[in-house]
Amino acid sequence: MKITGLRIFQLDLPLHEGTYKWSGGNSVSVFDSTVVAIDTDDGLTGWGEICPLGAAYLPAYARGARAGIQELAPQLIGSNPLALGQINEQMDMAMRGHPYVKSAIDMACWDLLGKASGLPVATLMGGHVGSDFALYRAISQESPAKMAKKIEGYRRQGYRKFQLKVGGDPDTDIARIRAAADVLKRGDVLIADANTGWTQHAALRVADAVRDIDVYIEQPCTSYAQCLTVRRHTNRPFILDEVVDGIDMVLQGVADHAMDVVNLKISKVGGLTKARQIRDLCVSLGIAMTIEDTWGGDIVTAAIAHLAHSTPERFLFSATDFNSYVTVSFADGAPIRKGGRLSASSRPGLGVEPKMRTLGAPVFSL
Ligand code: MG
Repeated sequence: MKITGLRIFQLDLPLHEGTYKWSGGNSVSVFDSTVVAIDTDDGLTGWGEICPLGAAYLPAYARGARAGIQELAPQLIGSNPLALGQINEQMDMAMRGHPYVKSAIDMACWDLLGKASGLPVATLMGGHVGSDFALYRAISQESPAKMAKKIEGYRRQGYRKFQLKVGGDPDTDIARIRAAADVLKRGDVLIADANTGWTQHAALRVADAVRDIDVYIEQPCTSYAQCLTVRRHTNRPFILDEVVDGIDMVLQGVADHAMDVVNLKISKVGGLTKARQIRDLCVSLGIAMTIEDTWGGDIVTAAIAHLAHSTPERFLFSATDFNSYVTVSFADGAPIRKGGRLSASSRPGLGVEPKMRTLGAPVFSL
């Protein structure tokens, strides 16, 4: 099989809640998502998606994704999309870094591999584990009382894992964590995700003040060294996210006993091929994972579902269903949350069929 063309579509994805707020006063109201179609000489088309969490979260932004994909596209024409190792090597040789640019292309090639073999991506990644898996719900940064109320609402919808957006004023964050813990029931899971928002001394204060609460601390500070210091002073289970941008950081984190869980975002590490490599390494090393992406709609949610559903249950800490956060559905067959749980499609590839009328005309095609 050979790649004969590549099309890029741009989509606005507004939020049901209106806006999503996290540390540092950052917020997004409409997500700018990029969908990629890879066309081939035997008539199959593979689909991928990349949606950064604005420009202030990771070194990634939506227009950068589209520019980068356009930069790579001519070099991919004629390549075999089913040879995923070679496609990734080719992209890494042609463009240093910029993992998020490569993610949607890699995702589309996995879709093609599944379609060509007649197998769902989850089967190619190890096989569906059980009938479904548990999701977490991100709780946008608000007052402690509002966040606790939102948890109660999402709990009624079936979610049992809640990721509080903290990383603001430490006293308010302590109150947020306490208010959230007060409304939880036995078996619920609470995560306080600072998204790099605390200074080291603020993080140490918060971590110490919540010693008696059953809560996970996620990515308190900007740098790995600062996070490691906090980790060494807290008795709470610890999650690293933003600093885990590839397999090297997983290895260093394991060597330093720096975390109990990693947050594995598909586009942060460069696509499904690299995310699966890290997933398998984490399973072998006994590190649990939250499997997700920076954001996205139906295609990203499908990709998350295939990677998460093929992960051994005890190592899948949680996952995300971004398509239930946004108001626009643009693909048939996308996974749909039932209660607080999701499952990957059993159809070939990612199992999604984009609605061309919703996607509109491509912003780039080759
Ligand atoms: Mg996080």
